[in-house]
Amino acid sequence: MDTILVVNAGSSSVKFQVFGVGGGSSLTRLIKGQMDGIGVRPRLRAVADGSVAIDQSFAAGEVATVPIALARVGEWLRRDREIDPVAVGHRVVHGGPDFDRPVFVDAGILARLTAFEPLAPLHQPNNLAPIRSLLESRPDLPQVACFDTGFHRGHDALADHYAIPLQFYDKGVRRYGFHGLSYEYVAGRLAEVAPDIAQGRVIVAHLGSGASMCALREGRSLDSTMGFTALDGLPMGTRPGNIDPGVILYLIEQEGMSASDVQAMLYRDCGLKGLSGISNDVRDLLASADPRARFALDYFCHRIALSAGMLTAALGGLDAFVFTAGIGENAPAIREDVVRRLGWVGASLDPDANAAGRTTISGLDSRVAVMMVPTDEEMMIARHTAALVGGGG
Ligand code: ADP
Repeated sequence: MDTILVVNAGSSSVKFQVFGVGGGSSLTRLIKGQMDGIGVRPRLRAVADGSVAIDQSFAAGEVATVPIALARVGEWLRRDREIDPVAVGHRVVHGGPDFDRPVFVDAGILARLTAFEPLAPLHQPNNLAPIRSLLESRPDLPQVACFDTGFHRGHDALADHYAIPLQFYDKGVRRYGFHGLSYEYVAGRLAEVAPDIAQGRVIVAHLGSGASMCALREGRSLDSTMGFTALDGLPMGTRPGNIDPGVILYLIEQEGMSASDVQAMLYRDCGLKGLSGISNDVRDLLASADPRARFALDYFCHRIALSAGMLTAALGGLDAFVFTAGIGENAPAIREDVVRRLGWVGASLDPDANAAGRTTISGLDSRVAVMMVPTDEEMMIARHTAALVGGGG
C-alpha cells in the first residue's frame, strides 16, 4: 500500500503520522508518533493499531537536531515497519502573502518560504529545516508544504490590513490568520454532517493550546481573530491574545525589557498561565478550587464571546457556532460557559448533548446551531499531499 508521511516539526519535537492511500484516494491513519526532547532527552514514541509500536530513548547527542530526528523516524519506519512513503506532507506555519494553497517544494519554493522566516521566527525555521535536509538527502521524494495561513488568503482588504502606513502592508505586515488547516478540515466536515449549515454564516472556535476563531461563509474564511502572528486574538494557554501595543512599548521603555524578553513573555508566560499563576492547561484550571483558576477561565470565555460578537458583525449574522480542538472538543464546562455568553445572539445549549459530546449540542429553542466537530489537521495535510501527488502537481 502506498503511504504518505505527515510531519509537524517544532523547535524540540517532530510529530508525525503515516497514512495509507487506498483505492479512490481514501486515507487510513496507520501510525501516529513523535520524537520529542530533541537535543536534550530525545524519545521516540509511536502508536499503531491502538498499541505502542515504539518507545525508545536516545542520548542527547544522537538526536541533536530536528532534521536528524526526522531521519531517525524515517529509519524506524523503513526498518521496523517496512514503510517507505511516496510523499511527505509538512505543516508550514507561514505561506506569506503568496501561497493560498499547498505546493510541492523544490529549491526555488524553499527559498521563497525561507524569506517568510522573519514573519514567524519561532516556527518557520523549524518547519523548513526537515524539508531542506530531505531535499538534499532524498531529492526524488515529493514534499508538499501545507500552510496555516493558506485558507485565509481570500480575506478581503478590510480584514487583511492593519491601520498603519501602507508601506508596511507591502512589506508583509498583514492580518494573515492561522489554524487554517484546522478550519479547512472542519469546514469540510460540516459540509458532510450539516450541508445546509455549511453554506451559511458559521463561526468556528479552534480552542487548543493555541486558540483562534474564524468566520466562515459558504465554507470560506472571511475573517479570523489571529493576525500577523499567532499571538493575536483570544487569550491562549501561554499567549495573551489581543493586547494594546502600548503595553509592549511600556514594557520596553519603562520596565527595561528587551525585545527578546518581551517575546519570550508573550509566547510563554501569558494567557491562562499568566492570569492564573497556576497552569496553562484547562484541565488543571477546571480541577482547581483556586479563585485565580476560575478567573482565568472566565476571562477566556469572556474573550471568546466578545470575539464572537466581532465575527458575527463580519458575517452579518450567525447560523452556527462550532467548537473544535483540545479544549473545544473535551471541555463541556467551557462550551457551556461560552454558549451562556452567546444568549444575546439566540444561542442555547442542550445540556445532555453537551455532556455527551454530540455533534449538535444546541437546545431546541436555539436560534443558532451549536456544534462540536473534532478537527484533524494531519488528515487535511495528508489529503492535500495525496491530491497533489495523485494529480501530478
Ligand atoms: P495543540 O495541538 O495546539 O497542542 P490541542 O488542540 O491538543 O492543542 O489542545 C491542547 C489543550 O486542550 C490542552 O492544553 C488542554 O488545555 C486542553 N484539553 C485537552 N483535554 C482536555 C479535557 N479533557 N478537558 C479540558 N481541556 C482539555
